[in-house]
Amino acid sequence: MTDLLLRKPPLLKSPLATWALATSLSLSSLSWSASQIQAQSLRFARACEPHTQEVTLAGVGDLLLHTPLQKAAATHRAHGGFATLWANVQSWLQLADVRYANLEGPVAASFTPSSYPAFNYAEPLIADLVRSGFNIVSTANNHSLDKGPQGVDETISELQEHRLPFTGTRRTQDRTSPWHTVTEQEGFKIAWLACTFSTNGIPDRQQQVLHCYEDQAETLAIIERLSNTPGIDAVIVTPHWGVEYKHHPEARERALGRKFLEAGALAVIGAHPHVLQSWEKITIRGEERFIIYSLGNFVSGQSGAARRASTLLYLGLSKNRAGDVWINGVRNLPLTMILRPNEVGVVPSHTLSEREGGPSIAINRMLFTADNEVKPEDAQALRTNPECIPRPGEPHSNGTR
Ligand SMILES: [Zn+2]
Repeated sequence: MTDLLLRKPPLLKSPLATWALATSLSLSSLSWSASQIQAQSLRFARACEPHTQEVTLAGVGDLLLHTPLQKAAATHRAHGGFATLWANVQSWLQLADVRYANLEGPVAASFTPSSYPAFNYAEPLIADLVRSGFNIVSTANNHSLDKGPQGVDETISELQEHRLPFTGTRRTQDRTSPWHTVTEQEGFKIAWLACTFSTNGIPDRQQQVLHCYEDQAETLAIIERLSNTPGIDAVIVTPHWGVEYKHHPEARERALGRKFLEAGALAVIGAHPHVLQSWEKITIRGEERFIIYSLGNFVSGQSGAARRASTLLYLGLSKNRAGDVWINGVRNLPLTMILRPNEVGVVPSHTLSEREGGPSIAINRMLFTADNEVKPEDAQALRTNPECIPRPGEPHSNGTR
């Protein structure tokens, strides 16, 4: 239904009409319940508090490379390869200090590249991610074991060869390597931990993947230990979870997300449902923390407006002289995946026609409101706490840089 609307030039002239249409489309596919999270704009109490350091993290959802995307990367091998898929978003990724994505599938050299249901990506993908500035990827997801234990091993070799930090998987026979990894940028040491709800029924006989639910006690213990480790500024958990094509999390994800925060995670950045899901702020022991349940498909070959809609999430952290770290704000940039015979890639929705970009903007607003949305002018100087910029005539606050 959504596809039809996009292909047939609709009589959609006002953003409101586009919004109403996309919203009603999405609403019709939802089962609403009392536990559903209302759309909310998010401001953080300590946004403007004096600090000595700041870091901005960028998070995007699933790298789910179906055949048309793999072909496009091969065609453009000499001019960016896989990076051509997100070339239109590159300048927005550059505005952050740390860039995260979910690598959904093996990159195993001894297997031929393949698409759904058992993915495998050509090796240049890792080098292209590194060249694009990605600093950290999750490798725990339902496609981790698509090429079996060897696929996991070879993916790890490829990641290590290109020094791209990853979290959530380990090699065959390896019972000691940590599931987490630590990135260090702008004076912030951030521990990342990925886990998955499933490996699509493929048994994990070698215990190579961290499982969010089966290994819940271990996962929570890791988070707790990391959050109490001197020198680690923040713990971010990136679970692969949720019900496909639903815009709201189930009670199961909400309960586990809260447990991650209670164990010491500052933020939880989820993915897998192929569509965007809500976000919320949760206060734990007096401290504001953050969950976004699903970032959607960053790049994929899936059709339909909701599956081609995603967000680039910006998460800002501040640190003071005492080493105290807190969230200063979040922003979202609506993205749309374009799948045309001669153009394949993800694009900021505001750069598209209303007909093409409108649905993603509408879905973003349906879940997050428009208050945190990134505007074109933010390309000059993106802030996660724009409310802290002193207005003309006001004295300059210590909380702004
Ligand atoms: Zn998935």
